[in-house]
Amino acid sequence: VAVLALAQQRILVTGAGGFIGQHLVTRLKAEGHWVRGVDLRQPTAGKTDADDFQQLDLRHPEACLSACGDKIDWVFQLAADMGGIGYITSSHAAIARNNTLINVHMLEAARQQRVQGFLFSSSACVYAQSKQSSPEVAPLKEEDAYPADPEAGYGWEKLYAEELCKYYREDYGLDTCAVRFHNVYGPLGDFEGGKEKAPAAICRKVALAHDEAEIEIWGDGKQSRSFLYIDECVEGLVRLITGHDPLPVNLGSEESVTISELVDLVASIAGKEVVKRFRTDKPQGVRGRNSDNRRLLSLLGWQPTVSLREGLTHTYQWVHDELQQENRLPGRRSVTVG
Ligand code: NAD
Repeated sequence: VAVLALAQQRILVTGAGGFIGQHLVTRLKAEGHWVRGVDLRQPTAGKTDADDFQQLDLRHPEACLSACGDKIDWVFQLAADMGGIGYITSSHAAIARNNTLINVHMLEAARQQRVQGFLFSSSACVYAQSKQSSPEVAPLKEEDAYPADPEAGYGWEKLYAEELCKYYREDYGLDTCAVRFHNVYGPLGDFEGGKEKAPAAICRKVALAHDEAEIEIWGDGKQSRSFLYIDECVEGLVRLITGHDPLPVNLGSEESVTISELVDLVASIAGKEVVKRFRTDKPQGVRGRNSDNRRLLSLLGWQPTVSLREGLTHTYQWVHDELQQENRLPGRRSVTVG
């Protein structure tokens, strides 16, 4: 069901081979738009709903010009070099270089090709680390990104790209919009290989574990987060085309859990007992992070409502089915899953 009284647009989704991009392409097609997808890789699902899919490296200006060509009206800039906490804490230079190149060239290409609107996928990693030092953290309001103290590499780059979006709006009239995603999860997300994030990694570990087996959890388990189910992320993005204003906005869930509670929830969905082995020698990020959705609600008259249990039930089922198809689910032997 279309939520927008919006005429058909020509929309570019970058990162359309990735997790959020694939879901967004499907949703935009269902809304009746013409959609081009661009990514460095083919869609991980093996197929795309895009009218046109181009495999391009958006670190290069010519690739960005080509992606924004043919009278594109709107760009969803989701292409980024990113991953879970292990990846983003160990690859500062590569992430900052790759994402700076992509964002600088995409904004300039959008300007040169006279694109009307540009939505940039920012992150909760832009928030000042000093405001996230306790698991009982106050939900983060948009103004808490300043004075700037974002996460190294990835967070600094996102914050700088938000500023670039502002300058392109002010100097060239490009209608930019920076959206700060908070921990999006769901089917099609990477669940192994080093770029996966906590919900998908935990679903994999629980699915692969024998009942009562030990599973490894990064950190002491007391760090808290909120997690946004993919359908709600896409819903918010589509609504923001017509609902945004010049200031950055959170797109997250306000349901906070500790990582230990997240494991218990996945185990209960799976119907398994697991023993948690906490690895405090592994990176665990800030102590607490949650989204304050008041700005989102005032812009859209809408905010996410799907419960974590419901979203995780779909996600666990998907990860379980993927592993089952590859014959990787456990037999009867007792193992530790790391
Ligand atoms: P993803 O890794 O699944 O998708 C990103 C896609 O960008 C990948 O398919 C990758 O191949 C592509 N890409 C990387 N470098 C490229 C290049 N040089 N040229 C073309 N394509 C390139 O990640 P996602 O979860 O779908 O994230 C989408 C966007 O949302 C990213 O900008 C990310 O930083 C942001 N974000 C996501 C989350 C989350 O929890 N998933 C949280 C905060 C912000």
